[in-house]
Amino acid sequence: QQKLSDRINSLATSQTLAMAAKTRELREEGKDIIGLSLGEPDFNTPDFIKEAAIQAINDNYNSYTPVDGYVELKDAISKKFKRDNNLTYNRSQIVVSTGAKQSLANIAMVMINPGDEVLLPCPYWVSYAELVKLAEGIPVEVPTTVESNFKITPAQLEAAITPKTKMIWYSSPSNPSGMVYSKEELRALADVLVKYPDIIVVSDEIYEHINFVGAHASMAQFEDMYDRVVTVNGVSKAFAMTGWRIGYIGAPDWIAKACTKMQGQITSGANCIAQRAVITALEAPVSSIKFMIDTFKSRRKLIISLLDEIKGFKTTEPEGAFYVFPDVSYFFGRTLKGHHIKDATDFSMFLLEEALVATVTGDAFGNPECIRLSYAASEAQIEEALKRIKTAVSEA
Ligand code: PLP
Repeated sequence: QQKLSDRINSLATSQTLAMAAKTRELREEGKDIIGLSLGEPDFNTPDFIKEAAIQAINDNYNSYTPVDGYVELKDAISKKFKRDNNLTYNRSQIVVSTGAKQSLANIAMVMINPGDEVLLPCPYWVSYAELVKLAEGIPVEVPTTVESNFKITPAQLEAAITPKTKMIWYSSPSNPSGMVYSKEELRALADVLVKYPDIIVVSDEIYEHINFVGAHASMAQFEDMYDRVVTVNGVSKAFAMTGWRIGYIGAPDWIAKACTKMQGQITSGANCIAQRAVITALEAPVSSIKFMIDTFKSRRKLIISLLDEIKGFKTTEPEGAFYVFPDVSYFFGRTLKGHHIKDATDFSMFLLEEALVATVTGDAFGNPECIRLSYAASEAQIEEALKRIKTAVSEA
């Protein structure tokens, strides 16, 4: 430990992965754990995408790939941006990476200098804060609550800006809260940002298609913001392709070029077979994945109605992604089945041990009064999980 770098010693272990490890351990002991902790669709990758990958293997796609991605893939991404988001990104503005996580890591490394502040509206995706810290930046949390539907206001944004503010990173639809910024809400935030032209925006739109309220809005759609927004997206969530590891950005040329330079020294181009398969995925009409979105929609209804029946869970109706993020502070300071619950981490661990349901503490996302439940699970699993939770907390 002492010989490791300060950099790695200061990095937090991913809480979602830590929960997954604890779940595995309990399962090995023979416990029947229902996992609502993972951010991963429980579907198979659609057959037409798998077939494209098999074809790519047979066509001998086996060499190193261009660092920023195959041109055919970049063209498919460019068309996707135009078709779905009305955004114009040409080849030189697109970089394909090994998952959107690498896209975000590239951005952190190429944009942040030591001491730069990065605004993170809460709750934010776990890795944002750690990536910012890895780049020696300072994550600045902008708090929200269940009452404000986990959305920041323009006034809050303005109040958080200092001369050191370099960037703002957010995801909409949001992991973990499921909130979705409307075009009007994004415009109101943009109205603040136009007054601070040096601030760069990272708009993580990986849950774009899993949106139950209507049209997806992108910050880069505003002409006065386009030149300083990095639009991040990927195929993990909408196409059930988490393990294929393909993400991408559309960005101003100079940022895309820097990300390519960074990636060229760290991993080189993303996997050849996965890239070929993603061309097919992105060229397919969005209707080809609609069945997954419809399934998430009915599961959302189910989990919300079941949560509403449990005293102590304060929940918003998520508008996108596949998570609910209830405020569980009602339980703090109480003792349940002999467990004293101080905070959301204790509560999440209590649910794992006593209800045999895996969730993730909101601590990991900057909202320590909440926990995250993923409904990327079957209706039967959701019903059983919520039944167990209801029983476990019944004495509260
Ligand atoms: N951004 C958000 C908001 C996510 O939830 C995730 C995955 O959980 C990612 C990015 C990373 O996705 P990928 O699998 O493409 O690395």
